[in-house]
Amino acid sequence: MIYDLIRYQFVDSQTSSMKRENVLLVSLGCSWGKCAFCDYQDDKSSSVLACDTVNKKVLSEVRGREVGSDVLEVTCSASYTELPFTTINYIRETCREKGIETVILEGHYIYRDANPFFTEFFGQYGIKTVFRCGVETFDEHIREDILHKGLPGVTAKDIARHFSWINIMFGMEGQTLSQLEKDIAIGLNYFDRVNLSIYTTVKNGPARDSLAINEFYASDLYRNLKQNPAIDIYDEWDDDNAHKVGHDI
Ligand code: SF4
Repeated sequence: MIYDLIRYQFVDSQTSSMKRENVLLVSLGCSWGKCAFCDYQDDKSSSVLACDTVNKKVLSEVRGREVGSDVLEVTCSASYTELPFTTINYIRETCREKGIETVILEGHYIYRDANPFFTEFFGQYGIKTVFRCGVETFDEHIREDILHKGLPGVTAKDIARHFSWINIMFGMEGQTLSQLEKDIAIGLNYFDRVNLSIYTTVKNGPARDSLAINEFYASDLYRNLKQNPAIDIYDEWDDDNAHKVGHDI
């Protein structure tokens, strides 16, 4: 079912060192579909026409050079490989019309072999592609036994061969600040950019550890990460934006 969601966001220099526009598009559905923390995969349609209709409308909000941005970040309820090809075409046309020079595509590691085709497709218009992958944590026990991420035995080095941005998640029961520190250190060592999402509870998913999240916000680690231009922090539940971090769309 296609949800009524905020699907366009302009990320300004207040919350990130990289000014960019974000769109949240509707996919045909995530074929992995097992991640324990994920509820957004339900925002989908098996109809290409339905996906395209919504996605075209969302992409019409992209302003590119008008707002001084030449980067478009594309997320969806699955991986970029699970958007209709017609939507991929709209993305490329939008980039061309609005002066977007870099498109960021997010997806699961299992689709890594498709990346060169996307690079070539966007490259035909001189648009650079950056691939972003969700690992959530490099602690394999939490990632595979609890989160069911589907990356058994996959190392940071393996992912970095195909993706240059990495997503890390913190705030689930069982996660610790020291593990987060390790995750961030590995992330910065292997990837150009780290997106750190603070976990928000999902139905039937892991519990949120509010104490650990408060501890994070009170820590030197948080203060250091805020100063690091290679890191974006997102917290959907930071309603009053007390921490001046980004909000996921
Ligand atoms: S791969 Fe992505 S969309 Fe699919 S279940 Fe996992 S987090 Fe959700």
